[in-house]
Amino acid sequence: MSMNPRPAPRLLSVVIPFYNEEGGVDALFKRLVPVLDGLGVPWEAVCVNDGSKDRTLDELIAQTQADPRIKAVDLSRNFGKERALSAGLAHAVGEVVVPMDADLQHPPEAIAAMIEKWRQGWEVVYAVRDARTGQGFGEKLFAKAFYWFFDHLSEVPLPREVGDFRLMDRRVVDAINRMPERSRFMKGIFAWVGFRQTGIVYVQEARTAGTTKFNFLRLLRFAIDGLTSFSNFPLRVWSVIGGTVAGSAFVYIVVRIIRTLIWGIDVPGYESTLVSVLFLGGVQLLTLGILGDYLGRVFDEVKGRPLYIVREVYSRDKPPPPPA
Ligand code: UDP
Ligand code: MG
Repeated sequence: MSMNPRPAPRLLSVVIPFYNEEGGVDALFKRLVPVLDGLGVPWEAVCVNDGSKDRTLDELIAQTQADPRIKAVDLSRNFGKERALSAGLAHAVGEVVVPMDADLQHPPEAIAAMIEKWRQGWEVVYAVRDARTGQGFGEKLFAKAFYWFFDHLSEVPLPREVGDFRLMDRRVVDAINRMPERSRFMKGIFAWVGFRQTGIVYVQEARTAGTTKFNFLRLLRFAIDGLTSFSNFPLRVWSVIGGTVAGSAFVYIVVRIIRTLIWGIDVPGYESTLVSVLFLGGVQLLTLGILGDYLGRVFDEVKGRPLYIVREVYSRDKPPPPPA
């Protein structure tokens, strides 16, 4: 790759999704704005209100009125973090774009090092968590299992301890914006688009205010979503298992027929019948479930609904319309 240093980016976009973060908006901008100003690069902050039920939107609008570089995209309801992020990426116009969380778990001070790497020619600079704060044994095991499956089943490997906090070149953002799929597993999408990727290490901080929006069930859904949207293996493996089971069943039938011909009919055999029926029934139900999962995914894509709906975009240069 060309290692001729690039000039500083013409514009940096920071993209931040907000869902019920009213207690953290003030603290975020108090820390973020001076850090961005210190970079010596023109910047904009694209805030996405993902259908918050608290005062987050009012807080964001106040920020946009105080600083013309802060914009707020208000979605019509809660679409989930992945789609909120997609909305933010579509509204960002910077030459480099940095998605980050609203709760200051992603230290904005790390952006300077990302820009440094970008100037060296890297197109994606992801932030690698140095240590997971407050992660229990169960969560670690769950993450380990997920990455093991993902690496073995999908065509692209996922970098470890990497979230959405990263810097992306305009070309990368354009490529992501062009991806039409409804199911937005951003970690997978970020890996899938490729480009020259490198990492920097950062220390994840504790949430400033509020609580996490991800419980175990939501994480599990997220993991299954990630696996099924980036691998067809769960779908294909059943033809192999089905073929093996059917083949053994056939051999077993032949053996039974020969036995019957030689030794005559024996009455016991009820258990083996029950066992095979139950086993096959279970395998079939599981297969149906997996088929259903993919079918549901196909149905979602075929409906072709938009990923998200924007109610309004707020910024000081384009004041909101007066109430009717
Ligand atoms: N978020 C969102 N929509 C949602 C859930 C979360 O926009 O439906 C945002 C949230 O406001 C935060 C970021 O996504 O800025 C990460 O969420 P959180 O901190 O709850 O996740 P965690 O850091 O615990 O994984
Ligand atoms: Mg968080």
